[in-house]
Amino acid sequence: MGTQPRLILATRNAHKVGELRDILASFLPGIDLTTIHSAADLDVPEPVEDAVTFAGNALIKARQIAQATGIPAVADDSGICVDVLGGAPGVFSARWSGQHGNDQANLDLLLAQLSDVLPEYRSAHFACAAALVMPDGQEFVREGRMAGTLRYEAVGAGGFGYDPIFQPDGYDVTAAELTPAQKNSISHRGRAFAELGPIIARHVFQ
Ligand code: IMP
Repeated sequence: MGTQPRLILATRNAHKVGELRDILASFLPGIDLTTIHSAADLDVPEPVEDAVTFAGNALIKARQIAQATGIPAVADDSGICVDVLGGAPGVFSARWSGQHGNDQANLDLLLAQLSDVLPEYRSAHFACAAALVMPDGQEFVREGRMAGTLRYEAVGAGGFGYDPIFQPDGYDVTAAELTPAQKNSISHRGRAFAELGPIIARHVFQ
């Protein structure tokens, strides 16, 4: 595992690990990033994310890793909430097409479902809950959002998930056309971790 871990990111999604490390680095200046490990390095089964809120699922993931390792764990849970769909896919974003983690199938299904929906009804937001769970059971959760509208076609090669069809408010490009730094500065995940970052600094790195 390399350096002794001080914090474990409870996610196996390599893209998310990268985003989270970048975000944490910006809020935890001077921290040795090699002490931040990911659950991908651990032999721990993926938990069942059966909560119906982002905060609930983030806590399930962080609790499992903190309890299994005795090391503070951070998790996020996120998704896209489409107004005309009553907030769906929401917590079902990663498995909207029925195939967990198949970003292309999920995006294709959402686009098809909205193919006849007029531009003025295509508002949506990404939501993220970021959780820190300490081995002694202390828990902290903060939430962030990024509002925007949905395109009719996928554009852009950056980001992941629904980024290519999501145009953030105030931009004329999709989230998949933003640089990682641009996206992190306005994203639901960036905002949730802007709130949780100082808490992590205080409880884990002091
Ligand atoms: P999670 O990994 O359980 O939080 O699932 C999040 C799902 O929501 C992902 O599979 C993506 O489909 C979607 N999602 C969350 N954040 C983003 C983002 O920043 N861009 C694009 N899609 C996202």
